[in-house]
Amino acid sequence: MTTHAIDEPVSESAPKYRRIQTLLILGASGDLTGRLLLPGLARLIRHGRARDITLVGAGSDDWSPDQWQDRLHTSFADAPSSSSINDHDGARQRPSPADGESAVESIRSASTYHQLDVTALGTLAALLAQLEGPVAIYFALPPAVSEKACSVLKPGDLPEGSRLVMEKPFGTDRASAHHLNSVLSRLVPEDHVHRVDHFLGKATVLNILGLRFANRLLEPVWNNLHIESVDIIFDEDLALENRARYYDNAGALKDMIQSHLLQVMALIAMNAPSTLHERDLRDHIGTVLRASSVDQDFRSSTRRARYTAGSIDGRQVPDYVAEAGVEPTRNTETLAEIVVSISNERWAGVPFRLRSGKALGKKRKEAVINFKPVNHLPLGFTGQDAPTRLRIGFGPDTLKLDLDVNGPGDVFCLDRTTLEAELNASDLLPYGEVLDGVLTGDPTLSVRGDTAEDCWRIVEPVLAAWQADEVPMDEYPAGSDGCDSWEPI
Ligand code: NDP
Repeated sequence: MTTHAIDEPVSESAPKYRRIQTLLILGASGDLTGRLLLPGLARLIRHGRARDITLVGAGSDDWSPDQWQDRLHTSFADAPSSSSINDHDGARQRPSPADGESAVESIRSASTYHQLDVTALGTLAALLAQLEGPVAIYFALPPAVSEKACSVLKPGDLPEGSRLVMEKPFGTDRASAHHLNSVLSRLVPEDHVHRVDHFLGKATVLNILGLRFANRLLEPVWNNLHIESVDIIFDEDLALENRARYYDNAGALKDMIQSHLLQVMALIAMNAPSTLHERDLRDHIGTVLRASSVDQDFRSSTRRARYTAGSIDGRQVPDYVAEAGVEPTRNTETLAEIVVSISNERWAGVPFRLRSGKALGKKRKEAVINFKPVNHLPLGFTGQDAPTRLRIGFGPDTLKLDLDVNGPGDVFCLDRTTLEAELNASDLLPYGEVLDGVLTGDPTLSVRGDTAEDCWRIVEPVLAAWQADEVPMDEYPAGSDGCDSWEPI
């Protein structure tokens, strides 16, 4: 095991990838582990990866070996092999279903569960000492517990080559994210820290980059000379769904915009990296986020709202403030919108509007690129004349291009048409992609430490203005399209 002086970050030139032998999930009895992580892992194994790992669960619950096996059994059954046989890199052969099943069974039956309080000095270290390294430690714990667990670890406690997987939210503000980064940097090098953003899977990231950078039709017009504005939207038709304990302390801005939508914006706005290597890619993401900010006139650059009683698809939804576990004085928003400016040559003057909310009438997960009108439309055309719009949908990934063409009948009359395409999907579940990156030592999809801090830097002034009530809290009925008074997107 390597040891490091306490204030000295681990060198970036530390040995690179060593194959992970053990996946240790802390918070093994929690919701994330049961509903998302274990099914993601099972699909990964069924697809021929992660075959040689030992899976270890740990948590504060006093679970018997049978309880842990039951949980594995149930969660693994939730992720059958996907029907499409789509080889990611063309080099790997998918195993037969029988092989996939026997690999899942062998990892399940060898898996063990350990009860421990990860925040107690020496307990996590004692467990790590029993495990074959390198270990990938997945912190599926409440954020404050993860932070405490990391701060009681010493560099020498981790088998060499180990990786740390941190869930969102990463810190609660810029200062706490910075502190957590410094704690982690004493344990492992930056490229061994995986800050999870499961929102954008690998296929989606590459779909955006491929679309932008491989098409002569798009790349030269992807700038402020041709683009009027960009909207990035994540509207959910789910309400609180018993997650008040987490959500009422976060709200839409922290839950979705601070983490996920700023990452989508970065992929849409960044310059072309010279390679798809994680360092090039993450450098470019970092650069464009550093140039991003929200205008200080928060009454016009931001909006917030909260849902009132309504119905979604026949389901009755109560007022947000009447939901179990909600504390009205926290004044938590369930719909948030911010306009981000990017101060660089490519994007000066182009507003990027980021919006996310819960309990809306329709699910919508897309980025919309609104092009400028043409410089001259020959006189004589009639009918609709709207600028070109490109819509990139996420999960499933789709592409829609709205164009004006000559309509049927009167050829002088312009009409709107939409060209549509489906983009390639991944065979893996989102958390399977996360784990694949962790187990193969590829941090491309993980948020780099400086970027995690920068995303807080962008939203912190907004949070402060909202805290000071500088921006009114609007209302919208659950199941509606949002607030009537807001400009429609
Ligand atoms: P849960 O509250 O469901 O689970 C937390 C787990 O941590 C429980 O198993 C709990 O055990 C365990 N735990 C708490 N304290 C300790 C301790 N001191 N020592 C050992 N184990 C402990 O949370 P979630 O699974 O929902 O969330 C986990 C993380 O994932 C959070 O950071 C969350 O923000 C993030 N996340 C969750 C998502 C979700 O859909 N659930 C989605 C995206 C991110 P016990 O119950 O015995 O206390």
